[in-house]
This record gives sequence, C-alpha cells and structure tokens, in this order.
Amino acid sequence: RLETGRALAEDVWSIFNVANLPADCINLGQGYMNFLPPEWVRTAAEEALKVVATNHYSHPKGRLRLREAIKKAYSPQLNRDLDVEKEILVTSGANEGQYSVFTAFLDKDDEVIMFEPFFDQYLPSVTFNDGKPVYVPLRPPANATGKFSSDDWKINPEELRAAITPRTKMIIVNTPHNPVGKVFTRAELELIADLAKEFNLLVMADEVYDRLVFDGKEHVRIANLPGMWERTVTVGSAGKGFAATGWRVGWLIGPEHIIRPTLAATTRIVFCSNSPLQEAAAVGLEEAEERGFFKKQLEEYTERRQVLTDCFDDLGIPYTNPEGSYFILLDISKVKFPEDYPFPESVLGRGRDFKACWFIAIEVGVSSIPVSEFYCIEHANIGEVYGRFAFCKDVDTLKRAAERFKKLK
Ligand code: GLN
Repeated sequence: RLETGRALAEDVWSIFNVANLPADCINLGQGYMNFLPPEWVRTAAEEALKVVATNHYSHPKGRLRLREAIKKAYSPQLNRDLDVEKEILVTSGANEGQYSVFTAFLDKDDEVIMFEPFFDQYLPSVTFNDGKPVYVPLRPPANATGKFSSDDWKINPEELRAAITPRTKMIIVNTPHNPVGKVFTRAELELIADLAKEFNLLVMADEVYDRLVFDGKEHVRIANLPGMWERTVTVGSAGKGFAATGWRVGWLIGPEHIIRPTLAATTRIVFCSNSPLQEAAAVGLEEAEERGFFKKQLEEYTERRQVLTDCFDDLGIPYTNPEGSYFILLDISKVKFPEDYPFPESVLGRGRDFKACWFIAIEVGVSSIPVSEFYCIEHANIGEVYGRFAFCKDVDTLKRAAERFKKLK
C-alpha cells in the first residue's frame, strides 16, 4: 500500500520542473540537454516529415530501417548477428520499453531486485504491474569526506544473495548507473550473472548511458557474459545518445522469448513509437560511427564533467566523480536553510534534500534533483545527503553554474 502511495505522490521531475522554478535558474535537474541534436539527425527528422509513410503508424516492432540500424550498431557489441524480426523492439523511450517488459513478465507479487539508489521510474513501473520491488543497497564509501569515485559505491554479494526468494523473477542492472554514475565492473556483473543463472532470473540491463563511459573504463554488457543472452533484455535510448530526450525513441534487444511477449505488451500500450523520429534515430545510428560522433560527444561530456568537478574540488565539497552517465552526486548535507523558508507544499512533506535542493535552486540559482527520490520510503533518509546535478549542458552554462556555486561555500 505504501509503495503504491509513494508512486502516486507527485514525482520529483514535476516538482523540480523548470516550470516551477525562476526563469533565470540554471537547470541541472532533470537529465536533458540544453543543446540541439546533431544537425544531420535533425535534417533526417525534417525529411521524414515530408514522406507520407513516415507520418503514419509504424509496425509495432518499430520501423524496419531503425531495427536494421540497431542491428548494425549492436551486433558487434553483443557478438551476434541480431535478428531484426525477433530480437529487436523499438519502444516509446526506454521507459516504456521497461514498463512493457514488466507488463509482459510480472505475475502478482513477483519480486524484482533493484540496486538502491535506483532510477525512480522502476518502482512505480513494477508496482503498477503488480510486482514487488526488492532493494539491495549500493553503498557509498563510509565516512567519505572528499572526492570519491562512483566505483567506490559497492554491492555486497551476501546481501544480493539474501534478497533472492522463490518469488524473485528479475534483477535490474543499470550500468552506467543513474544517479550514481557507477559503471559496473566485469567482476560485479559476473557475480550478478552467476546468481541470475543459479536462480533462473531475468535480467533487465538498462544501458541507456552506454555511450557515456569516461576515462577509458570498459562498458561491459551483462548480456555478453556466458549463458546470459538467453535471460537478458538490454535497454537502449536515442534520447541519451543523440541529445533528443523528448523524441521518446528507445529500444530493447534480447532473445525472441523475451522480445515476443514484450512486443505484445507494447503493442497494446502505445501500439508503436512515433514514426518520423524513428527514421531520424535510424540515420543517427547509421552514420554515427563514420562521423566519429560518439567519440567526439564523449570528449565533450568529459569536458563538461570537468567544469563541475573542478568547481566542487575548489569549494571542497564532497561528491561522487561519475565514471559514466551525466550525473554528479553532491553532498548537500552542510547546506543550511531557514526552517521557515517559504518552501512550496510539494517540497514540505519530503526529505531534507528536497528542501536543500529547493533552497539551492532559489538562492544559488542552480536546480538539481534530491536523491531521496531514488530510494524507497524506508531508506529515503540515506539519500537525503545528496543532490544530483546533471552536466548534459554546454560548457558556458556549466561555468555560469560553477560561478554561482561559490555561494554554497
Ligand atoms: N532519465 C532522466 C533523468 O534521470 C529522467 C527521465 C524521466 O523519466 N523523468 O534525469
């Protein structure tokens, strides 16, 4: 009952939406870009609008051109010749794809393990489908007082094993991880994979930030580990890859016995994803490699990350340096605010971090996302020390934010 209640409470994205914040507040909250998708991808979208067929329904599996482009991009990465008819499904954003997997596979009270903190959508997506979320902590380093790495956040193998029950159906593995920025190591993924095989579990590999892995760190796909293809669905996103989060084009890749039931669900939920932007996403994937797009984009993100980490280093505020994704967790436990500050109603009933993030948004002029939202109600206090700042913004904007952060000192 509590879980559903929480899912129905106002979501953090609506509360910390730009619509509710002063116009001059720099938005480092919800993870979307303040720059355009690449020009050649936008041109493809414009062209698609001029063609009759691409203004209408696509096949529920997704447009063939996009499925072919996904096959070309992912087959080498998954070490197999993907079947565009059976093993690839285009969805209305990664979110809807994941929701459809839950709809297809969860029976009442089936348990889904997620590492906490977790991307907040998982929880209602599981409970709305009658499933039961089970949380396994991803623990930050104890007594961290300065900068530390997302890799310092660890899972405890015994805790993971102990969380598995006869009702466990699935484990969600989000790498690179939102909000921690952790890129799971091969050893960590092997451990998860071994348990998935031992207990016959499905794995949802949410890898939407797969193009944003820094410092030469290896992005390991759990689907590639021995015996894992059969039980893994890998999630991807055009929004993250091509700076087009509002396009709502994502995809699922997996064996036919996972994709087929999920296709049945997605067909009844949205029927198909929007057609012209699927066409544009196809062009994006077709041309990205030869244009060196992902490599250049990663360099740009590396520079963006640096602007914020330099700033937090200078200020001496502890934070997690992310090895992947575009989020930085900042320790906001020292930020002081008057208890009688005019907080909106939506913030008042929530954790300390909601107040601190609101106060920072108004008084410092930079918005963020309070991290207790990425914890279940019972553990929300663990997340209350952090604000999540997104660096998917141009360097000038991040520098302006860095200037404003001086007020945090
Ligand atoms: N992935 C986005 C973020 O974490 C949010 C997307 C959403 O579903 N609200 O910022």
